[in-house]
Amino acid sequence: MQIHPQQPDQQLTHLFHDQMNLLGLRVTANRLAIFQVLAKADQPQSIQEIVQQTAVGSGHFTSIYRSVDVLTKAGILRHVPRGFKSLYELGETFRSHHHHLTCENCGQTIGLHSNRLESLMQELTIQAGFTPTNHHFELFGICPDCQIGQMPE
Ligand SMILES: [Zn+2]
Ligand SMILES: [Zn+2]
Repeated sequence: MQIHPQQPDQQLTHLFHDQMNLLGLRVTANRLAIFQVLAKADQPQSIQEIVQQTAVGSGHFTSIYRSVDVLTKAGILRHVPRGFKSLYELGETFRSHHHHLTCENCGQTIGLHSNRLESLMQELTIQAGFTPTNHHFELFGICPDCQIGQMPE
């Protein structure tokens, strides 16, 4: 059996090119590299982590930062606020809408997909007389791995 190195999904990359075209944005080497890092990632990544994984040389932090900003404003990426940190993941064109449950101890994140949660959010917004547009909702806790390490004696 052959084990393939983890490659970004071809279809996702294709969709990325289509979206960029649609938005009138150029697919630069940086932008593509950032997209591919986040397409492979199973958790939202910080700029620092993105830079490390796209590093072709030193001192390109600023240009990666700028590209992430462009892609986020265009909706290609989604900003995931995490305390004082900013994390990024692929936007909803590429990943279905979801929320996160994050371990406060080790930082591992899992995606939460819940129709009940979505309809409740919708309901609360409408009850207040608003038209729903967007929402942010993040949950924090201690993951099973960390609970084992934190068992009281
Ligand atoms: Zn943990
Ligand atoms: Zn939601």
